[in-house]
Amino acid sequence: MRAACARPGKAGSAESQAFVNMVWFKLSHPVSALPMPNGLLPALRVLLVEDQRDIAANIWDFLERRGYEMDHCADGVSGLARALHGDFDAIILDLGLPRLDGLDLCRRLREAGRGVPVLMLTARDTLEDKLRGFAEGADDYLVKPFALAELDARLRALCRRRQPADASCSHAGLSFDARTLTAQREGRRIPLTRLQGALLGALLQQAPRIVTHASLIETAWGEGGADIAALQNQIYELRGLIDKPFASALLQSVRGVGYRLVSTE
Ligand code: CA
Repeated sequence: MRAACARPGKAGSAESQAFVNMVWFKLSHPVSALPMPNGLLPALRVLLVEDQRDIAANIWDFLERRGYEMDHCADGVSGLARALHGDFDAIILDLGLPRLDGLDLCRRLREAGRGVPVLMLTARDTLEDKLRGFAEGADDYLVKPFALAELDARLRALCRRRQPADASCSHAGLSFDARTLTAQREGRRIPLTRLQGALLGALLQQAPRIVTHASLIETAWGEGGADIAALQNQIYELRGLIDKPFASALLQSVRGVGYRLVSTE
């Protein structure tokens, strides 16, 4: 274990202990009974930014047992510094943090061009909070209390759909660079969330062919990871970014089948 990467301590409030108890209660199997990760695969490096020590310690222990290489910061400022300078496969980011809020941390990370997948943790469970999280660049969202096994599954899905570092593609004057999660059209830079980037990358790679609903869902969320309504929501957001500010629309719906990027000429 690296010196900068100390496991969070166990001391914490009664409130956080109650949360931890709920997490463990909701976990359907004891940790010892869970299958260990495939030892042949390289460990996924995850930065955990969480100020409640008991919660952080339990997440750390659980994920480490499942083969992750963990790092931890207990406040937003040090979390942002570590996220900017470290090489992580994913970041677990608490929303309510001292010194720098999770939403601000995520926005600054994206502004710096870092496309590492971010999974937000929060006790707030309103649509507005979720939309704000996604707007600031979060890729996924878990509401406390959650099952640790679900956190593991979602992290792995996020890492699976991370695109190769050199992936870039273009069509009809619209381009997308997966390294920075940034689209570009008519000279305008358009920052995207990871979900939006996954969808646009899939559409660009197939353009002008149609990409089916099922294929887009599998690309962005993993097989069976979302429904048509979730896809439609993301496409709506994507349209607002890559089409709405411009004179012509490139992203076209093919009713009952999927979506495609067309040429404006
Ligand atoms: Ca917190």
